[in-house]
Amino acid sequence: MILLSPEAETVLKTRYLLPNETPSVLFQRVASYVAKAEADYGHDAASYAQEYYELMSSLTFLPNSPALLNAGKPHAQLAACFVLPVEDSLEDIFETLKHTALIHQSGGGTGFSFSRLRPEGDKVDASGGTAGGPVSFLHIYDKATQVVKQGAARSGANMAVMQVDHPDIFTFITAKRRHDVLNNFNLSVGVTDDFMRAVQNKDDFALVNPRNGKVVKMVPAKEIFDLLVQMAWENGEPGLFFIDTVNKANPTPGLGRFESPNPCSEQPLLPFESCVLGSINLTKMLKKTGDEEILDEDKLARTVRTAIRFLDNIVDINHYPLQQVTEATKRTRKIGLGIMGLAELFISLDIPYASEQAVQLTRSIMKFITAEARAMSAQLGQVRGNFPAFRDSVYIQQGYHYMRNATVTTIAPTGTISIIAGCSSGIEPLFGLAMTRNVLEGKIITSVNQVVVEYLNRLGLLTDSVYEQIVAAGSVVGLPLPDRVKRVLATAHEIEPYWHVAHLAAAQKYTDNGVSKTVNLPKNATLADVAEVFFTSYAKGCKGVTVYRDKSRDQQVLTHGIAC
Ligand code: ADP
Repeated sequence: MILLSPEAETVLKTRYLLPNETPSVLFQRVASYVAKAEADYGHDAASYAQEYYELMSSLTFLPNSPALLNAGKPHAQLAACFVLPVEDSLEDIFETLKHTALIHQSGGGTGFSFSRLRPEGDKVDASGGTAGGPVSFLHIYDKATQVVKQGAARSGANMAVMQVDHPDIFTFITAKRRHDVLNNFNLSVGVTDDFMRAVQNKDDFALVNPRNGKVVKMVPAKEIFDLLVQMAWENGEPGLFFIDTVNKANPTPGLGRFESPNPCSEQPLLPFESCVLGSINLTKMLKKTGDEEILDEDKLARTVRTAIRFLDNIVDINHYPLQQVTEATKRTRKIGLGIMGLAELFISLDIPYASEQAVQLTRSIMKFITAEARAMSAQLGQVRGNFPAFRDSVYIQQGYHYMRNATVTTIAPTGTISIIAGCSSGIEPLFGLAMTRNVLEGKIITSVNQVVVEYLNRLGLLTDSVYEQIVAAGSVVGLPLPDRVKRVLATAHEIEPYWHVAHLAAAQKYTDNGVSKTVNLPKNATLADVAEVFFTSYAKGCKGVTVYRDKSRDQQVLTHGIAC
């Protein structure tokens, strides 16, 4: 019997279940498909299928959406993240657009760097005319994405990066000022160490034509930075992609540089690489000792190991939409295991999200998970073989002899899978303590988050009046509750930006790939507040950052730019 929330049932029914499929059959379909890979290594696929089924049907771990949707179908494509190169020729731009359409059709999201395209107004030899510039092509990609819906499930998602020294950077930063354009894109500026230094030193910064390497003009770095801050304040976009920080963590520098992450920015990839993600539901990782709840490290370790095996199997059995993607992905075998339900874990443990104790816990959980994941990947490497580029990887210098996967951890937004699992998304704090849903046409029910109910109950604080007031306000601000309880139950916009950045940085420290997290700001946040978030997240070693100021967009979405 699978215990699903009404929201989870609705999501599964409308998007994931095949005709006549129940949730249990869905998880069996995914489990037995992924377990097929075990047979190639001489293992009993059926017993692994059972193990994978238990992991998913208990909502302890879920793979990314394409795996749930596509497993078992002909030519099943199970990965969520892809990055494609965009070269500076008309032929290449449209070739990549064709590849994008195929990836979207297969259920994946795509990231691109548009930094290699010559700027607007630059010469075009073939026609003797002038170039439209990268942003004009972005609009074409966006239109194509809208037309190629991913089955009936969802429309595609894209990330576009432009490096900060591109001559069209001002046009790029303001490309989404109008709210009705580029809705299938998230935008990030590829920010270099040189740029951050130039901003700090109030230096001029060179904008360079990528076609010939010539400096087009010098502009005050601060001018670019201020516009970035202004747009992020107005609109939550662009985000920042700290491209030098990302490349310092490249496990296979010999294979090339990272130039873009995937759509929700948590997964930097080399051109043509793909990555499959999966997330552990931390609310299932608690155990009771006496009256107290504590983190069950044995269970977490076991879960990590099975999840890594599961994700590694997918690299073998996946049907990639392009030959280049098959080759690039199999060279490094990147996988990304992450977490969800962190905020609810903190509530159960009676720890405020906005506290040093919580930040330490985020750091230590990811340290534990990455260490276990690496150990499992090394074990798989010994049995199944290392990833082919292992010899040229940083693992050799670090003294490893075996590694099956060039990366093992990523923290995804978990936009949909957290709904299926019935837990808070990724490492985000709760957005509200109560949830509203339509049950029958016109009839709306609001209920309080179950973890919050249990927490208040445990403390003997859940009176009818408290329940009703939480339903009405979605928060405990102003309620006659102890200060500590109010701190534990603080929601995303009540939490100071400092703590959002602190969790982002703490998680990143022990995550191989990137971390999806929005830094929420109150409506009255200033431009200086946004600038500070950008500087501190850079200084703390984050790979990227996105802010969202409360009510700054007409339609508020939970994850970075795209309602996943
Ligand atoms: P889910 O919960 O559905 O598994 P996430 O919200 O964790 O997905 O997003 C993970 C990744 O999945 C994103 O970074 C992106 O690469 C991909 N993705 C998310 N939404 C879409 C979408 N609408 N179309 C294509 N890919 C998507």
